[in-house]
Amino acid sequence: MAASIEIADSITVGELADVLKLPATRLIGELFKNGMVTTINERLDFDTAQIIVGELGLDVELIKKGNDIEPVARRTASADSAHNTERPPVVAVMGHVDHGKTSLLDAIRGAEVAKGEAGGITQHISAYQVEHNNKLITFLDTPGHEAFAAIRQHGAHLTDIVIIVVAADDGVKPQTIEAIRYARKAGVRIVVAINKIDKEGANEALVKQQLAEQNLLIEEWGGDIVAIPVSAITKKGIDALLDMLLLVSDVEELKADPTVPAAGLIVEAHLEHGRGPIAHALVEEGTLKPGDFIVAGASYAKIRNLESTTSKALKTAGPSTPVVITGFKKLPEFGDSFVIVKNEREARALSEEGALRLQASRRGDMSGNELLRLISQSDKLQELPVIVKADVQGSLTSVVDSLKSISTDEVAVRIVSASVGVINENDVHMANSSEQKAILYGFNTSVGTSVKQRAARDRVSIRLYSVIYELIDDVRNELSALLAPELTEKELGTLEIKGVFNTTRTQVICGGKVLGGKLTVPAQVKIERGKEEIARAKLTGLKRGPNDAKDLTEGELGGLEIETTSKLDIQIGDKLTVFTVETKERSL
Ligand code: GDP
Repeated sequence: MAASIEIADSITVGELADVLKLPATRLIGELFKNGMVTTINERLDFDTAQIIVGELGLDVELIKKGNDIEPVARRTASADSAHNTERPPVVAVMGHVDHGKTSLLDAIRGAEVAKGEAGGITQHISAYQVEHNNKLITFLDTPGHEAFAAIRQHGAHLTDIVIIVVAADDGVKPQTIEAIRYARKAGVRIVVAINKIDKEGANEALVKQQLAEQNLLIEEWGGDIVAIPVSAITKKGIDALLDMLLLVSDVEELKADPTVPAAGLIVEAHLEHGRGPIAHALVEEGTLKPGDFIVAGASYAKIRNLESTTSKALKTAGPSTPVVITGFKKLPEFGDSFVIVKNEREARALSEEGALRLQASRRGDMSGNELLRLISQSDKLQELPVIVKADVQGSLTSVVDSLKSISTDEVAVRIVSASVGVINENDVHMANSSEQKAILYGFNTSVGTSVKQRAARDRVSIRLYSVIYELIDDVRNELSALLAPELTEKELGTLEIKGVFNTTRTQVICGGKVLGGKLTVPAQVKIERGKEEIARAKLTGLKRGPNDAKDLTEGELGGLEIETTSKLDIQIGDKLTVFTVETKERSL
């Protein structure tokens, strides 16, 4: 009987590998074979996890945990408030990697913000506002569906419109489909930006057709989705895109009450030298003012400075405004919701409650820091955060120098902190509240029992060494584990198509003659016409005459079953190369 395993609505590749007791590389390999390029920290939704478990041929049944997060409705002001006023739409950008999410956000910010702001903006900000046709639009500047999903998991109804970016020269890809699914689940409005129209090979019509296959029917074809062709590089179409965002938000009649006590969400937080904790927040309702007492999760502040994300001092900030707040006693976390309270006493009490909740959630759910880590993963570089403690300055310097030297383009050691002394509570706290849990390395130093207990409770790993190269080896092993596996294609054989018998959107039945090698199933196929590769798909079945065959060898005629994700136009004369993909773990 199949073993049943309960998993949540979504699960990371690493976690899934853990519950299946498989090496993560095997899972990454299988996902790759199914057209998804992932890392160990990538989040899979339940359906994908289920499909992959099936593909792996495991005798395991995945069951969804009961506590699914329900789709959240969009933010709407309480209908009966007499004070409701129009507010700017909050827009997020999602899409497949390299389709131009960041470039598009930069183009929008550059085009509009720079007009009014001397000096423009250089540093990364978490959210920004632009003015277009005398109206404001708020953009969340954390591209990628991970960020969006993370925000949603915190129950925040933050986004009104999602721009799905599709590169016109690449078309709809797995992450595009995932983005569409996320946006739908959250019930937000979708606007499609067909990007890179300046590029050779851009094919708007094909993108529209592929969108239709995902049930996103564009207006000109009778649907209700608007697709705007744009180029983030030449800026063509950006104005039209902004026009469309305003139009959509007009239709939605987005409103909020600026007179209620302010509330919203922390979208970024970091420490700044000389200024202390800095929080970026988005006001959802009410109006923030300097001097207000604000509570976010386990932290609170009497707001010292209230600024726009372009560092302008603000006297007030109403609904949909992104702001920068200083004055927090300690760092709030990404995804914390904030509220305003009357006085310091209330602020302290509420933040203490927040701290208790946080402790409870750390035992189970994802913490805000883990969510933050999800976002930083849109970068390809995988980082290993470490904290180093050593007996004396000299040995500390050698350890740190050696650690710095073992980073590569793909994986790097991030030294969160390095100092001299015994490992104390503060180090554990820092390791635990680093964006991604840091490993605490001690060189020729020690750790007390209570600190050890604290580390065990926070699941922070402390590793003590007295031989430097052993410490370095340990770090190297940790880095190796972050490396994506090496994938190699192994050619099995080639075949020429002699007949195509049946074509549906997901399957092609055809036949041909084996030109060389030995074809087996399951395998991958590359379909070539002349010298050009026209598609890749999965070979799921072989036939010799009317019977299923295990293999077909050179010179034989046989039938093929090919599985596809979008309609595949195979023709007589096409050449098929059949291959398998092998994964190999790598080490530094
Ligand atoms: P992201 O991964 O979706 O954030 O994609 P990026 O914004 O990093 O863009 C990926 C690559 O595509 C970069 O090299 C960009 O310069 C390029 N790119 C983005 N938009 C355009 C465009 O409109 N036209 C052209 N030609 N290249 C673009």
